Amino acid sequence: MKFFEYNGKKIFEKEKIAILEGYLANSPEEAKEITSKMDKSVVLKSQVLVGGRGKAGGIKFADTPDEAFKKSIELFGMEIKGETVEHLLIEEKADIKNEFFISVTVDRNNKKPVIMASSEGGVDIENLAISSPEKLIKYHPNPLDEFLPYEAREIARKMQVPNELISKLGTIIWKLFNIFNKYDATTAEINPLILTDEGLIAADAKLEVENDSLFRHKDLVKMNNYKEKELDFVKLDGNIAVIGNGAGLTLTGMDMIKLNGGKPATFLDIGGGSSQDTIEKALNMVLDYEPVKVIFLNVLGGITRADDVAKGVIDVLNKTPKKVNIVIRLTGTNEKEGQELLEKAGIPFDISMEKAAKKAVEICKSLE
Ligand code: GDP
Ligand code: MN
Repeated sequence: MKFFEYNGKKIFEKEKIAILEGYLANSPEEAKEITSKMDKSVVLKSQVLVGGRGKAGGIKFADTPDEAFKKSIELFGMEIKGETVEHLLIEEKADIKNEFFISVTVDRNNKKPVIMASSEGGVDIENLAISSPEKLIKYHPNPLDEFLPYEAREIARKMQVPNELISKLGTIIWKLFNIFNKYDATTAEINPLILTDEGLIAADAKLEVENDSLFRHKDLVKMNNYKEKELDFVKLDGNIAVIGNGAGLTLTGMDMIKLNGGKPATFLDIGGGSSQDTIEKALNMVLDYEPVKVIFLNVLGGITRADDVAKGVIDVLNKTPKKVNIVIRLTGTNEKEGQELLEKAGIPFDISMEKAAKKAVEICKSLE
């Protein structure tokens, strides 16, 4: 799970890394009001989960509330690499003397965390790794040992910063590594870490937490208002909607329809561990797609529970005024419960994917 910058900064602040004064705005009016209350020059920062906002024009500066209002109108609704800007972080504009880069991530080749750092931080860090790799310091702490402050200071020394900064910079590197560990992160990054008259401050925050450990961080998930990934939905030119849990199974379902002489109208992958809500959402998506005559729902229950699937289907069929032709392949976890529910509701199903696909094609042909 990726954190929005403003949430990443809340965590940094909690862990005693300095950040700039800033507030979240949900509209140009709020941006204006916040700027007026702060009574200083500000930076308007688009809150999206992709990087490179600066280069994409997602960061603007304003010296007055009116300017903040005008510029935030340009930012709200802007698309950055497929994400729409819905919130702005309004931050005091810092007087930057220097920009550093520090990052902790997983080095998959070495099977260890790696700390990367450079005294040339800012927006062009990706290019720096190519043009001047010697300016990018890499250090692999021993994952079986405690990461000690002197190791962090050693990294700071290699960054060739002035002597008086080594200890302060080392402390922040040490804290960042501890954040990485404590929050089960896959990436914890500050770029730029800025030097101002007030000292070293995190002007940006990138934090990504391993999805498999989110159960340990429920409060963070809530704070970040994490939205589940959208379903993978592809519209095709046939008339049988194919829905499956998992991309491979969905593709196989499409093959089965084709083998039996039918034509898929959709590829819709509801993913593993689908809840009743997901099933309902998926069914409603294909019901809204006009060419669909028959729905072939292909579920192999693993983490997804067959009874949840059955409940979702029944709920949608009860609510829609449309006549729905649906064939379900339902097997796996809790299949007995699920099949019983479908039987009672009079909804055709089969435990064999081949047979269910064949039935879906037959129903479709009978409608022609
Ligand atoms: P990113 O492009 O998504 O990584 O967004 P950043 O938050 O890193 O901002 C991009 C760039 O905007 C930074 O590298 C800074 O050069 C500049 N910037 C951000 N905040 C401030 C600020 O408070 N004052 C000044 N002068 N520049 C800033
Ligand atoms: Mn940045």
